[in-house]
Amino acid sequence: MIDKMAAVVYTAPNEMTYEPNYHSTQVDREDDVLVRIESVGICGSDMHAYHGHDPRRLPGLILGHEFCGEIVEGNNSGLLVTGNPLITCGVCSYCMQGRDNLCSDRDMIGMNRQGAFAQYMSIPEQCLVEAPANMNPNHVALTEPAATVIHAVNIAIKESYLDIKDCHVLVIGAGAIGFLTGLLLKSYGVKMQILETNMARHPCVKEHIGIDAVNPIKQSVSNDYFDVIIDCVGSEKTSSISFDSIKAGGVIVNVGLQNWTSAINIRKLTLQEIKLVGCYTYSMEDFKSAIKYIDKGYFGDLSWIKEYPLSEANFAFKELHDGRISSAKVILKPDFKKQ
Ligand SMILES: [Zn+2]
Ligand SMILES: [Zn+2]
Repeated sequence: MIDKMAAVVYTAPNEMTYEPNYHSTQVDREDDVLVRIESVGICGSDMHAYHGHDPRRLPGLILGHEFCGEIVEGNNSGLLVTGNPLITCGVCSYCMQGRDNLCSDRDMIGMNRQGAFAQYMSIPEQCLVEAPANMNPNHVALTEPAATVIHAVNIAIKESYLDIKDCHVLVIGAGAIGFLTGLLLKSYGVKMQILETNMARHPCVKEHIGIDAVNPIKQSVSNDYFDVIIDCVGSEKTSSISFDSIKAGGVIVNVGLQNWTSAINIRKLTLQEIKLVGCYTYSMEDFKSAIKYIDKGYFGDLSWIKEYPLSEANFAFKELHDGRISSAKVILKPDFKKQ
């Protein structure tokens, strides 16, 4: 039982409130453990909630689901862990098939349970994955977005007629998911182009992925050219770019969900046998692969991560909202120490 903890509460659209003396916390339920949070990432879905656009995430909630921390209460105290924020039932047909991301009875940390923008969080032990010893907590906290990327790239590999190394791949968006996708494809030796409208992100793409990002508002994108497209934005605009740019027989993997309606070119899809595949989160297996891939350097040195103290969460969200942060991932630290 922890008497008081600091937490960041989503109090109203465009308002995150740091509460140094948020109420007490403890292990919430029988199968839970208590984790002391070391690092927690801000996800695009947290931004979406912050803007008041997610009916499932309402004011009063502690957001945050990309975390690294140490178990302080319950089994395996002292272990450094991250965790799959999807709490799945383990018994439905999807869970039995290893497609647990499609579980028909799932909860999610930072959505219908309190999240990780806090000093402590209660989470079912079954969700946790042990981090390799001495791994940087900021890198461990990247496991969740990295798992999304592994899931998406594996779908592209499975659905593409051609070997991924022989494909021209288009990645749309250089936020966390697009950027990590670029890094993984780079380590696989894949030829790619990356689209990003925020010019502040272009230097980071150049430095870490080694290619010039293309701004589709200013530059044209080749039509009927790409074998595989991974859309990490998912707007009407990017959907129409995808259908214009995909080659006959190609695969479009849709990961982003900026707009909940979209434009599908059903004529091209049919006449040119385009595969359009949806991609949602990750399985527990992807999650376990992700932490290994990060540790082995498949995503590079991760030197581009930007840190803020948890107490400055509101400022960090504003900076992200204004597009002033060039880094693809902002990490909040409850116990921030200046380097
Ligand atoms: Zn996330
Ligand atoms: Zn299930």
